[in-house]
Amino acid sequence: MKILSGLTLKEIEEITDELKASKFRARQIHNWIYLKSVKSIDEMTDLSVKFRDELKKVAVVSDVKIKVKQESSDGTLKYLLEYPDGECVETVLMRFDNRANLTACVSSQVGCAVNCSFCATGKRGFIRNLSYKEIIEQVLTIQRDTGLKVTNVVFMGQGEPLLNLDNVLKAMELFNESFQIGARRLTVSTSGIIPQINRLAELDMQSTLALSLHAPNHEIRRKLMQIEDKYNMNDLHNALKNYVDKTGRRITIEYLLIKDLNDTIESAKELAYYLKDIKCNVNLIPYNPTAKNDYQRPSNNAIMKFKYLLEHSGKKVTVRLERGADIDAACGQLSGKAD
Ligand code: SAH
Ligand code: SF4
Repeated sequence: MKILSGLTLKEIEEITDELKASKFRARQIHNWIYLKSVKSIDEMTDLSVKFRDELKKVAVVSDVKIKVKQESSDGTLKYLLEYPDGECVETVLMRFDNRANLTACVSSQVGCAVNCSFCATGKRGFIRNLSYKEIIEQVLTIQRDTGLKVTNVVFMGQGEPLLNLDNVLKAMELFNESFQIGARRLTVSTSGIIPQINRLAELDMQSTLALSLHAPNHEIRRKLMQIEDKYNMNDLHNALKNYVDKTGRRITIEYLLIKDLNDTIESAKELAYYLKDIKCNVNLIPYNPTAKNDYQRPSNNAIMKFKYLLEHSGKKVTVRLERGADIDAACGQLSGKAD
């Protein structure tokens, strides 16, 4: 059986060729899958009943199951999806009342090897990479379930996208071509895998690179993120500058704010100094509680003070709205488990 979700137009044409149907049928099927997000072949109503029956003998729409679906009081939806091998990942749909955007937060791996101290995903260790089809299936599942069209995709779910870069790049190409989501509406977030940042710098992409920096200096960063021992902030600084030089694009710096650890006035000043020659916006992420660590979220006052100091250094700073925390769907709370 062929799984239609995840196939390119060319691959769908191979199926219609085998069934001795025209290429136009392939285009129709492609639109039903990516733009109209049907759940079954029977819903492809501009195909004849006879042709649909033939297609059903060789193909199905999807082989991914929704295991759990939760809705937050703020409208955020979290899905636990199961792939045929039994592995599960989470995918989140964020809607903002005041904006037309529908943003899907997708996972790129089952588990994650980077194991940052503040993150629920890292606690599971690395299990496996997702194929590009499994990545885009997350967005298709959301579209099929809600009947809505996703407008933005962020690779900020489970996993380190740059440790699965080939599949992530192929998924981005398909988001662009098959889903018609503009490259500017795609964001890849990384914990700072330098060789792959350099590789991205060579590709002429319109997408946004987000770097999870989270600390103003080496000592604090290595407490939070083991990866600092392998790819440290000095080398990262060079990689970021190189990225901006090569692409001309502005980077997003993600900075997790943890009470008394990296939210002080000195930290803000040190961070401003580190970023002073990097073309970037800063996105502050107040820590979301996860089990098994003692970190705390700073007070709103501390968050605003930190923001003010960074803004004073000339950066555009936003504070990330906490979405879906009541269903553990906020940043860092995705563990990929049903309980
Ligand atoms: N692996 C990638 C992308 C997934 S994580 C990365 O680390 O960048 C998406 C964002 O959520 C990252 O910036 C991550 O550091 C942040 N995050 C992880 N745990 C968090 C927590 N408990 N509270 C708030 N943000 C968290
Ligand atoms: Fe992996 Fe990102 Fe979580 Fe770190 S924050 S463990 S890199 S998913």
